[in-house]
Amino acid sequence: MATCTVPTIPDKTVTGDSLYGPRACWQEFIDWAWYAHGFQQTYWDDGFGYEDCCNTDLPLARIFGSMWLLNYSADDYWNEDWSNNCLHWARRYVRDQINDLRSLCGDGTAIARSVSGHVELYLGCFYSKDCAGRAETLLHESRHLGGKPHDANFPAGSVFGEGKSGADSTWDYEGAWMYGALYLWWFYADGRRTTTALREAARQRANLVIDNAFATHPGFTIA
Ligand SMILES: [Zn+2]
Repeated sequence: MATCTVPTIPDKTVTGDSLYGPRACWQEFIDWAWYAHGFQQTYWDDGFGYEDCCNTDLPLARIFGSMWLLNYSADDYWNEDWSNNCLHWARRYVRDQINDLRSLCGDGTAIARSVSGHVELYLGCFYSKDCAGRAETLLHESRHLGGKPHDANFPAGSVFGEGKSGADSTWDYEGAWMYGALYLWWFYADGRRTTTALREAARQRANLVIDNAFATHPGFTIA
């Protein structure tokens, strides 16, 4: 593994790691999640957490916590039918798409990337996003693997970089940004086994995506 430095760790109550970390620290869950998402050990050892997988200072435990959130936030979470809302099927979609999951340093701010069939998560995912935000990233990258690349440039004033590629054209394109925002929206609206603060943070993140990641604004925000 390349050498990179863990940044200052944000307040774990705010990011949800103090809530979800202990929940994910459960051997059966870890074994299941590890194989279900194709974690590649060589990318998760040497400081990324393989030897210390319940330590929420480290990337691996932080992604396990977000996977717990992704899997158990619907009221009837075992009901994964596509006809239900996104809170139910997102976990199934992520599981279906991601078969090779890697952790890398990135440049410090980079979040994630899907490339030639695998997903790379960078330090920005583990340390700049909360647990719901990391679940958003997993779903976003899964949508890329599912065959939806970004098809537009970011709009004027976008926090993601005005005029740069990486946006989706419209909400109806049903691309990676839409999937991520939809998940956060449902987590805000009906997320269970979580806190009001984390749900509110998901609403704010979803609105940030809605306002900045579509070439044509969807025309709504989440009130
Ligand atoms: Zn993307």
